Amino acid sequence: MHAQPTGQTSAIEQILADVHRRTLGRRDGELADYIPELGKVAPDPYGIAIATLGGKLHCIGDVDVPFTIQSISKALTFCMALELLGREDVFARVGVEPSGDAFNAIEFDPVSRRPYNPMVNAGAITVAGMLRDALGGNAFEILLERFSLAAGRALELDEAVYRSEAASGHRNRAIGHLLLSVGALREPVDPVLDLYFRQCAIQVTARDLALIGATIANMGENPVSGTQVFDVDAVRDTLAVMFTCGMYDYSGNWAYDVGVPAKSGVGGGIIGVVNRQLGIGTFSPRLDAKGNSVRGVCGFRMLSDELGLHAFDPTNRGSALVDSFLAR
Ligand code: GLU
Repeated sequence: MHAQPTGQTSAIEQILADVHRRTLGRRDGELADYIPELGKVAPDPYGIAIATLGGKLHCIGDVDVPFTIQSISKALTFCMALELLGREDVFARVGVEPSGDAFNAIEFDPVSRRPYNPMVNAGAITVAGMLRDALGGNAFEILLERFSLAAGRALELDEAVYRSEAASGHRNRAIGHLLLSVGALREPVDPVLDLYFRQCAIQVTARDLALIGATIANMGENPVSGTQVFDVDAVRDTLAVMFTCGMYDYSGNWAYDVGVPAKSGVGGGIIGVVNRQLGIGTFSPRLDAKGNSVRGVCGFRMLSDELGLHAFDPTNRGSALVDSFLAR
């Protein structure tokens, strides 16, 4: 079942249209090109979607254009690992500290020798290793099914992007072997990297991200289908790490300005979770120097201001405001 746009032009739709219009002109930034296939995508699509816990969807722009989830998958696989292994076991192998370095940095915490957090590649590849150990050869299918339940539709792998990354992902291979050398991964490393490359190449839309975000915001229950997709305790831990580490080495600025747990990916997507209130998905492929979508960051900033979404905004009007708009 899909969440449907409401069909009424409410004030929320006007705010979305305004934010979209004011940020559409941003054509700065570059496509990610270290995965060759990503350098070929159309640079101009731009969509914003908001899903409420009541299952309503508000959209503007290119919310049905597919793109690869990339690093946004890291939040969801971390959540799955927490459920499968428990927080102690996961914490023993991956930290929860912002690294302040690029997502693909080849480095570990010098004291614990663990990857800094599950949102950088080293941490996410370690998490992929945990899922592979726990779920075996069907790990990808199980993961894809879970992502699909959160999005409320059957998601698919983008074969071309998967192959492109698998063929060119030497840096991630290096990280994988380094993880093996410090005992964070077990032999064989290749199936773990394969799982990681596949999870990054799952195709989503901005609309899907909004629904996945709303599922997380709704304590793990998809607000449209009513399916309990993620465990509530795992959601709590995942949101905490999204808040502190989700936006690459821009995470501190993001927490300060936008104040919403979020995760971005080099495919141009950003997912935001306003806890117990809303899920937000944006898509625009041109990235800033930190690897975040240029328009996505601008759009989220404006939405956070307009709708009062910041976690520490004294009013945090969020969904109450959206609901009141709906009533008009
Ligand atoms: N598949 C990409 C990589 O591992 C994901 C990067 C990202 O979205 O940050 O390099």
